[in-house]
Amino acid sequence: MNLKHLLFLFIFSIQASIAQEKTSSISSKKSLSKDLSPHIAGKLIINMKAGTIQADLKLSNLPALDTAFRIRLHHGMNIKFMEDSTGFVRFNNRPLGDVMDYRPYSNQRYLVSPQTIRISYTGAFPIYTDTMNLVDYKSIIALNGETLRATEESKWYPVIYDTKNDRELEKLSYDISIDCQDCKTIYINGTSAKPGPIANFKSTTPRALLLFMGNYSKQEFPGSDFLNAKMQENIAASFDHQITGIKTFYEQRLGVPYKEKIVFLEHKAIQTYGPNQSWGFVTFPTIAVAGLPFSKTIDPKTGKLNHFVRFSFYAHELAHYYFGNVFVPNSTLRDFFIESTAEYLSVKAAEHEYGKDSTRSSIKFKKGLLGENKVIPLSQFTDKDEMNDAYRYAYGPLVLLALEKKVGEEKVYRMLQNTLKNKDQNSNYDFFTKIIKDAGIPLSIWKEFEANVFNEINPAKAFRDL
Ligand SMILES: [Zn+2]
Repeated sequence: MNLKHLLFLFIFSIQASIAQEKTSSISSKKSLSKDLSPHIAGKLIINMKAGTIQADLKLSNLPALDTAFRIRLHHGMNIKFMEDSTGFVRFNNRPLGDVMDYRPYSNQRYLVSPQTIRISYTGAFPIYTDTMNLVDYKSIIALNGETLRATEESKWYPVIYDTKNDRELEKLSYDISIDCQDCKTIYINGTSAKPGPIANFKSTTPRALLLFMGNYSKQEFPGSDFLNAKMQENIAASFDHQITGIKTFYEQRLGVPYKEKIVFLEHKAIQTYGPNQSWGFVTFPTIAVAGLPFSKTIDPKTGKLNHFVRFSFYAHELAHYYFGNVFVPNSTLRDFFIESTAEYLSVKAAEHEYGKDSTRSSIKFKKGLLGENKVIPLSQFTDKDEMNDAYRYAYGPLVLLALEKKVGEEKVYRMLQNTLKNKDQNSNYDFFTKIIKDAGIPLSIWKEFEANVFNEINPAKAFRDL
């Protein structure tokens, strides 16, 4: 369970709910930068009443991985055929939880990664209109009689797994047609939901492919779309106003336009929840919940989200547009530059809306999580997979808040602005010190801060003045 999960638990503990942030589509060690993203094209025929998915999809623009690759697909999909540019290929398979790992071969040799591969397959999935299913989670292909929900983690589409670098190429540009005769609305992450029964979806931006379709409606607002949320217009407008407020706050501080519409998706989980329980996940730019309707998170009197931690949660997710998408870090401080920056910005956005008390509360909560547990100074990281959740979500943002106290808000924003301008840099400690310098922070002040805060391994001591 990561810290964001804990935070989310805290948010919904107000209503005894549970939820989780899954940042895998944004920040996991498995994602790749844009230039390496493959493309997927083809057609799906989906029958909601029967629970069947029939797919014929072709992956192209695949990186050269020699034989160090697998093809991952949900274990409920039966492959009719697999072919590369030379013709049909055979394959071995190995079960891996909810997915199967396929390894194609030809003439008794494992295949060197092809540039294109086409896979035709059919899957059938149970429809839960009762209480027979005990658990719902992000990798399930979930049908509840009204909607079908399948995320990138379910591997409803074939995903290349790079075995050498332990990463899945789950973000793809796409051109996919869907035929679903019993669907009112169809949505693929990264485009606007469209009316059924037949729709085509295209994106040149690589996305983690969340699929959500069925008998539901879309409500459109300037900054957000709501899917299946059945929001009262005024409540939805207030919600959207909060979201556009966060976007504007970021645009003004970071100087980069926020070019992303956020999609809020509500679905009925295939697990029974109590009246005050909920569960959520994020496949950016979609934020999905089950159990707790978005409409209940707005205070009708003020038109605001009814708790600053909830606001902060959305602000954190929205900040990933910048840190994780505009800037895709790739080196030792990768997780600091994705999660700690997003968390710092969410604290600032919440402060703008709810006042200093929200920041004090966040600092206290984060300090409490760290306690006196030893931390590794940022300068000592040698591996981008080394940073744990407490470090990314609590220590990292506290470092930025402590720096802000020392040099002022404006210089920290300048650092973040410079980060966004330096897209091709290695996100390591040298880069960190470069953006410190470029932000106009005098060397003497930085050295003092480095000695007293950065190199202090006891967080209670490092943040004693915060
Ligand atoms: Zn995050």
